[in-house]
Amino acid sequence: MTESGPIVLRTLADYQAFTLSALCQACDRSVVLDHQALADRWGWEVLLTEVRRRLRCQQCGRRPQRLLVGYHQVAVPDG
Ligand SMILES: [Zn+2]
Repeated sequence: MTESGPIVLRTLADYQAFTLSALCQACDRSVVLDHQALADRWGWEVLLTEVRRRLRCQQCGRRPQRLLVGYHQVAVPDG
C-alpha cells in the first residue's frame, strides 16, 4: 500500500484493525490518527493523500512527512 494510491479513509475504516499514523520527521514524532475524528472533519471519502496535505503536526505546525498504515493485532476469538 503506497501513500500515492487512490485510497480513501473509508477503505481503512472498513477494516477496523488498520491504523493510520502521521509521522513528522522534523520532530521525530508519530501520532496515531482516529478514523472517526478525520471523517468528522473531511468525510469518509477523503483521499489519504489529501489527509496528509491537510494535517499539521501539533508540535511544529509542519505537514507530516508521511502517513503510515499499521494494524492492531486482534486476537481471533476462541469460539
Ligand atoms: Zn513536527
